[in-house]
Amino acid sequence: MNLHEYQGKSILQKFGVTIQRGLVAYNADEAVDQAKRLSAETGTKWWVIKAQIHAGGRGKGGGVKLAKNIEEVRERSEAIIGMMLKSPQTPPQGKKVHKVLVAEDVYYPGASETKEYYMSVLLDRGSGRNVIVYSTEGGMDIEEVAEHHPDKINKEFVDPRVGLRPFQCNKIATGLGLTGAAKKAMTKFVMDLYKAYEGCDAAMFEINPVLKTSDDKIIAVDAKVRLDGNALYRHPDYAEMRDKTEEDPIEVEAGEAGLNYVKLEGNVGCMVNGAGLAMATMDIIKLSGGEPANFLDVGGTADAARVEKAFRIILKDPTVKAILVNIFGGIVRCDRVAQGIVDAYKNIGDIKVPIIVRLQGTNAIEAKELIDKSGLKVLSAVALQEAADRVKEVLA
Ligand code: GDP
Ligand code: MN
Repeated sequence: MNLHEYQGKSILQKFGVTIQRGLVAYNADEAVDQAKRLSAETGTKWWVIKAQIHAGGRGKGGGVKLAKNIEEVRERSEAIIGMMLKSPQTPPQGKKVHKVLVAEDVYYPGASETKEYYMSVLLDRGSGRNVIVYSTEGGMDIEEVAEHHPDKINKEFVDPRVGLRPFQCNKIATGLGLTGAAKKAMTKFVMDLYKAYEGCDAAMFEINPVLKTSDDKIIAVDAKVRLDGNALYRHPDYAEMRDKTEEDPIEVEAGEAGLNYVKLEGNVGCMVNGAGLAMATMDIIKLSGGEPANFLDVGGTADAARVEKAFRIILKDPTVKAILVNIFGGIVRCDRVAQGIVDAYKNIGDIKVPIIVRLQGTNAIEAKELIDKSGLKVLSAVALQEAADRVKEVLA
């Protein structure tokens, strides 16, 4: 589950990390009020208006703007709220901005006095450890740094059984070229950041930039946070931070129906029971010259209601040109699933895309008969290769 910058920062603050402070606003009037409140609290003279969307690279897309007086706070907020913000991390049409963070300016008195660093904490699956990635090249696109200056990206691995040791924080601060008060502040920053990452069962914390201010404070200016969805039951307060308006509406609907659905870019919709079979089915679609339009695991209980819901969800995607149903009847009986498909087809009505059904396992023969006799435009197959050939035929 992804969080907004302001939500990520609130978690960081709870764990003792110094952040660039800010207040959320949903319209320009609120932004003006929040700017005044923020100045009363922090003494800031300038403000940064930051679009809150689930995507990075907002600055490049015009979603982060400095305001030097209250009139500019109003103008910038008016321009940003409601805009379709496009960045390399948004869909091509951009993402609509519903709210902004009115943040204190932390770059006083100017760029020459400050320095931006990069830092993230995430799980390294290869080594089964957490890793802190850090670089002196902060503020910019880290993927670009990784490509052109891989030597400027450093990694510190942390064994979760041992935890982050103070000497490692020290090593990171030294590696970033810091001395004195700034080094001390960075050492604490790294430790608290790691505690935040562990403490909320995060999948990722990316702080870009981490800023060294002119008065040697170390501050999180940005926060890109992804929490582990499977651990959210342990954090009801964080679970409440979910912003469904930022997510794909079809994925949200599928999730509510208990279906594992992920939208993809292709033209063949698929409905499968079991994640492994779903992966194999996507491979089959590719081998037959198509591209999967989605990943969809209906789960072990492929009953009529779920099958119908799954059809409805796949059909919401206008790019779908064919649907491949691939169900293995282990516990479920294939003839029951087949009946579910026939019923769903009739209930939904007006299905224009061809459907290829491959049912294998218990009562597969009866299932094929049921589908062949239904009179509907549903093509049945028993072998996987046969299903692949059918997909090829209907796409041709
Ligand atoms: P991103 O573009 O989505 O990664 O958003 P960031 O929060 O990282 O902000 C983008 C850029 O805006 C930063 O790299 C800074 O250069 C700039 N910025 C952020 N906060 C301030 C601030 O307080 N003052 C000034 N002058 N610039 C800021
Ligand atoms: Mn950033």
